[in-house]
Amino acid sequence: MYIKSIAASIAVAQTMVSAATSSQDYWKSFISGTDPLNITLPNLKQVDSYDPVTECTYYETPAQFHYDETKWPTMWETATSNGMDKTAEFTALYNSIKWSSMPNIPVRKATSDGGLDFTGYDQDKDQDCWWSASTCTKPKHPDINEDIYQCPEPDTWGLTYDDGPNCSHNAFYDYLEQQKLKASMFYIGSNVVNWPYGAMRGIKDGHHLADHTWSHQLMTTLTNKEVLAELYYTQKAIKLVTGVTPLYWRPAFGDVDDRVRWIATQLNLTTILWNLDTDDWAAGNSEPVTTVQQNYDDFIAMGSNGTFKQNGNIVLTHEIDNMTMSLAIKNLPQITKSYKNVMDVATCMNITYPYQEKTIKFPSFADFVSGKKDTTAGSNSTASAAGSSSGVASSKSSAASGSAAGAASGSAASGSAVSAEQSTAATSAGFKPVPSFAVAAVLTFMAALL
Ligand SMILES: [Zn+2]
Repeated sequence: MYIKSIAASIAVAQTMVSAATSSQDYWKSFISGTDPLNITLPNLKQVDSYDPVTECTYYETPAQFHYDETKWPTMWETATSNGMDKTAEFTALYNSIKWSSMPNIPVRKATSDGGLDFTGYDQDKDQDCWWSASTCTKPKHPDINEDIYQCPEPDTWGLTYDDGPNCSHNAFYDYLEQQKLKASMFYIGSNVVNWPYGAMRGIKDGHHLADHTWSHQLMTTLTNKEVLAELYYTQKAIKLVTGVTPLYWRPAFGDVDDRVRWIATQLNLTTILWNLDTDDWAAGNSEPVTTVQQNYDDFIAMGSNGTFKQNGNIVLTHEIDNMTMSLAIKNLPQITKSYKNVMDVATCMNITYPYQEKTIKFPSFADFVSGKKDTTAGSNSTASAAGSSSGVASSKSSAASGSAAGAASGSAASGSAVSAEQSTAATSAGFKPVPSFAVAAVLTFMAALL
């Protein structure tokens, strides 16, 4: 009897220890000020205006978000900044990961012009499944989640928009809502805390939200700790603002190898890439608009010329600025005409639960096609509501110092996510200005890679 109860106690203790130390449970300690099933956006001009300057005007930190900038990475800097790699929370997460199981792959080097240095890497053998070198999507090392890069069903356009939430996206999101179009939205952590109502709009409209890192860098050039922090703090930011923690992510510039994938897998994240790239971010910058429109025309034609007879696509497009969002609105009528199905990646993959919390359920592919396109309350919806209300209660006092909102700037409207990063600093939010050379460097990265 005595021995049995000791054994039982040990068993219980072991269960508790393993629950507390599993890296995949990290999200359970996140707080949120949002019940994703019950979102009301405030009556603010930034939320309903169509004027980009007005939309991108600074607003006070929403009280319920409890965003204290001293407890977060510096916006647009590597997510280990502001001491975030040394907090008790991050240290516990880091120590819960069995790093000895990670594939032995070096941190990559960037070239002086901001591209990737492939020196010494055998791109034919491609032993590390480095997408930037080979577009490899099937890991070569064990125990790593395999990438998603195309929708499986024929004649299906996988709709994805990167780099949001953009402060000037109201007309675009209204268009998607009116047309009953759902997309996978790959949100940058810095943008989420900068423009929280923009991210809330995404979850409210039933889009599939995913992680696009904190500061949008070449992930294979970052250390293990930096990769972990870039993913972790974006997960935490998306949860804080929208009430859900994504299970999917997309690397900036598609730059991923088996080391980065392995770290993402420790957070239960799966990589989503693409198999068609519009280059829309370059329209009017490094590429003429006509070139990008030609890409759209070519991809639209593939919907009716048999290219996607066996399987669908996933198309890389952006909500990075008003050029890319205007191009989307211009082309979506033709896309929906040419393709049998147009939908977000969670739905096309039959992933009904794309978040850690099972609060929101996505329609299956079959449901979506039959017209049941909306997300519904999931199997754990009550628990979520209780969790988020406690976040609200504890958030009041920090509202004044939090300042999650972005700064007023006319240029943010016509610029990119990159210019949104410039605008972040200007006013009272207390964030440091991003020097223009950093912006130039980011643009160089993009030019070099895409
Ligand atoms: Zn991006």
